[in-house]
Amino acid sequence: MKKVLIANRGEIALRVVRACRELGIPSVVVYSDADARAPHVREADEAVRLGPPPSSESYLLGDRIIAVAREVGADAIHPGYGFLSEREWFARAVREAGLIWIGPPAEAIAAMGSKIAARTLALAHDVPVVPGTTEPLRDAAEALAIAERFGYPVLLKAAAGGGGKGMRVVRDAAAMAGALEAARRESKNAFGDDAVYVEKYIEGPRHVEIQVLADQHRRCVSLGERECSVQRRHQKMIEEAPSPAVNAELRKAMGAAAVRVAKAAGYQNAGTCEFLLAPNGQFYFLEMNTRIQVEHPVTEMVTGIDLVQWQLRIARGERLPFTSAIEPRGWAIECRITSEDTSNGFLPSTGRIDYLRLPGGPGVRWDSGVGTGSEVTLFYDPMLAKLIVWAPTRAEAIARMRRALDELTIQGIETSREFHLRVMEDDEFQRGAIDIQWLERRLDSLLAAPVPRDQVESAAIAAALLADRDRRRRSPRAAGGAAGKADELSRPELSPWARLARQQGLRDA
Ligand code: ADP
Repeated sequence: MKKVLIANRGEIALRVVRACRELGIPSVVVYSDADARAPHVREADEAVRLGPPPSSESYLLGDRIIAVAREVGADAIHPGYGFLSEREWFARAVREAGLIWIGPPAEAIAAMGSKIAARTLALAHDVPVVPGTTEPLRDAAEALAIAERFGYPVLLKAAAGGGGKGMRVVRDAAAMAGALEAARRESKNAFGDDAVYVEKYIEGPRHVEIQVLADQHRRCVSLGERECSVQRRHQKMIEEAPSPAVNAELRKAMGAAAVRVAKAAGYQNAGTCEFLLAPNGQFYFLEMNTRIQVEHPVTEMVTGIDLVQWQLRIARGERLPFTSAIEPRGWAIECRITSEDTSNGFLPSTGRIDYLRLPGGPGVRWDSGVGTGSEVTLFYDPMLAKLIVWAPTRAEAIARMRRALDELTIQGIETSREFHLRVMEDDEFQRGAIDIQWLERRLDSLLAAPVPRDQVESAAIAAALLADRDRRRRSPRAAGGAAGKADELSRPELSPWARLARQQGLRDA
């Protein structure tokens, strides 16, 4: 592997640039006009413009991206997540162009691309799936008959689904026809396919997923679970590893199930098997994501394994040196910092980031695609950055996340920072008493609670202090108390540093 082209943007593009650099491999990014000054473009060894901001005219131009790889002499392509990462045709085109695809084989993407096909494969390998059908529904009458059999509520799901699209909960027979129609329409619009099937709707489950790595030499290992139950509208907001609901025995069983699914699909590289974990401890396979995931850092923090580096190393043929016996060490939590006004219906917020103060100190990691001066637009996903912490225990990780969120200051746009702070303060979250409906249930009371530390006030004080300092710089005398300072300033015991500070009115006598 001589040079890697990164077909993505934002934090994940920068994440891959960093992995390449640590392995001594030059990296090339492609970018749209909206990202011309973005951190990932600045940090990569080379950058090539693709086109205007809309992804259909930039990050989704697979053929153009392959052509760019050829032009710049890149011999491998990393797709990140989203965009082209799970497009079978793109994985195939990269391979046919004689380039290394840093991801699973196109055939494995295809095998997992349809939820129905994935369910069928899992069942054939003794992996439990949510009770339901493995055929697309013909009509509402069939849906009603199946719902009678499993009992309400049921969930209609698009076979091609992703991002929670084409999904409808049906609580009684009267709602079936309308829900089926809506799920079909949404799926057709989003994925060009209207196949919909039925699953039993599980009440109060957790979303627990297993990270797998598979090399080209038939070794496939589980790196343990991530708990991703804190979701809003089926979108994850906070993830952690390990899960408060998983013990060593369950971890082993879920890990073995994930490895069976991955092997059955002929999987290679990094992938994730998503499961629902019911309150009674029963787990059900949902689907496999055939790419690196947003929340991969929490697994990295508790295993010490660099997943993105391993994506590159697997793609160039290296053997995995570890087994599924790895136990998590300590606790990691990730908050997705998004440009949303969380106290105002999660309204998207756009504009320029005028000021950014990053958290630091022990156990804090900041994976970000933005910096001071970045313009946040509506062209792409609202996720700006991921704040990740590690600590020996869950309670200490929560305390550390509170501290890090407290240090984080983003001015110019609204972000989810304060919302995360509220979650960290919540006693149910602190007890780990969460499931996938928890956030929606809890949202009103979360938002009504007072902001844990008075950030608004401290931000105002900081701004006032800065303004005052500027004033003093411009006119030391106007800041008051400067009369008669000339004498003092020449006192010999003052260090040059202190003298300058006094001259500028920054220190008192
Ligand atoms: P997508 O690919 O659209 O994200 P998933 O199948 O991964 O769809 O489901 C998304 C989310 O919907 C899950 O994380 C979970 O919160 C919820 N969900 C999915 N299937 C069920 C089910 N059978 N019962 C209850 N909730 C479910």
